[in-house]
Amino acid sequence: MLELLEAMYPLHRTLVSDGTDEALRLLGDSLPPEASWATETYPPGTPVWTWTVPERYVVHEAYLAHEGGARIVDFADHPLHLVSYSEPVDATLTFDELAPHLHTAPHRPDAIPWEQKYYERSWGFCLPQSTFDALPRDGRYRAVIRSEFVTDPERGLRVGTALVHPAGGPDPAAGEFLVCAHIDHPAQANDDLSGVVTAAEVARRLVADPLPAGAMSVRFLFCPETIGSIAYLSHHEDLIDRLRGGVFCEMTGNDNTFVLQRSRQDDEAVDRIARAVLATRGEVREGAFRDVIVNDELIINGAGIDVPCVSISRWPYPEYHTSDDTPAIITEERLAEAADVVEEIVRTAAVNYVPRRTFRGPVFLSGHGLWVDWRTHPELNAAQDKIMLKLEGDRTLLDIAEEVGLPFADVRGFVDRLREAGLVVAEPAIPRPSR
Ligand SMILES: [Zn+2]
Repeated sequence: MLELLEAMYPLHRTLVSDGTDEALRLLGDSLPPEASWATETYPPGTPVWTWTVPERYVVHEAYLAHEGGARIVDFADHPLHLVSYSEPVDATLTFDELAPHLHTAPHRPDAIPWEQKYYERSWGFCLPQSTFDALPRDGRYRAVIRSEFVTDPERGLRVGTALVHPAGGPDPAAGEFLVCAHIDHPAQANDDLSGVVTAAEVARRLVADPLPAGAMSVRFLFCPETIGSIAYLSHHEDLIDRLRGGVFCEMTGNDNTFVLQRSRQDDEAVDRIARAVLATRGEVREGAFRDVIVNDELIINGAGIDVPCVSISRWPYPEYHTSDDTPAIITEERLAEAADVVEEIVRTAAVNYVPRRTFRGPVFLSGHGLWVDWRTHPELNAAQDKIMLKLEGDRTLLDIAEEVGLPFADVRGFVDRLREAGLVVAEPAIPRPSR
């Protein structure tokens, strides 16, 4: 995971840029063919719901120099030196004229902050506070930005997807579970290449060890933040009704505990599953929707889409949105823990369904070879009558497991056997709308 992250890290990954495309290519190449990697391109200017797909941003050269002298900051040294989507400029300015165009991170005086002006035309440079403080106030400065906003429809906004089906192929009725991470943020690592490689690892694991037949398919969306998920979902509105839940994963590689941000529904299956998975690791930090950190779950779980989507991260971390957010703050161990957590959430959520009985009366369990021996599993033996009374098609396997106080896997195993015997039919676990 860290190796893939390090390959994508230095790239100039803005909303629509060659660096973002290259990162998507590296990511797609890292996935097995069974992950059905695909990319889609949306031409600049395309209306996507209330938004518009931005132009491709190409930077030929950008620097700030003392007039007739040495360069102070240069895009070639670090892409964060340039405010993302700065318009072209070639001007000589006094310090007072220049200062409004300069950005620093006073809380991290030696780091370059990340600034972007995606949807307004202006320009600027980012530099360490220490460099800014040393600039002569009576000096004159040359600002040069040779940038281009490309509207070629072939070179529009690009997103990447993977789709991993359960054993036996997709079950249309079961629907899909969504895992999302954003691939933009020039030369930053934890936000959110960590989430990208975490999600990609989960895709690889689901290919190597597929979900059981009848489970949801798992769709992975890798895109520039906000506009990428808006562009993708607005082009696939038919998909929205098939999505049963989602996880946004980001900032998974730094040295902090996990934090769960709940879905807008607040107590949907995915919330309870994520909480239970994190609890087994001793993690208890959580917050309500939009109260921890905002990302594409604001779209996925947003108005008119409303797919319950939690976010899993290790927020906060001090290097956020600065040049200090490098692979050096990330370890393979932390990434692997995150992949374990996300994988477990997916493996539970994707096999949740609403069981509806086809039988009358108590099932003749021993006659069907379904009786649970009290000597091998006393708790399940004690609960089997209660479980059989909860198969009215009005609750999910997860609800039943919580009500009888047994592990989800045990209840699912028991009800799956009833299903295989034709005594139960599985209906999709369609989430409630949020309020
Ligand atoms: Zn960010």
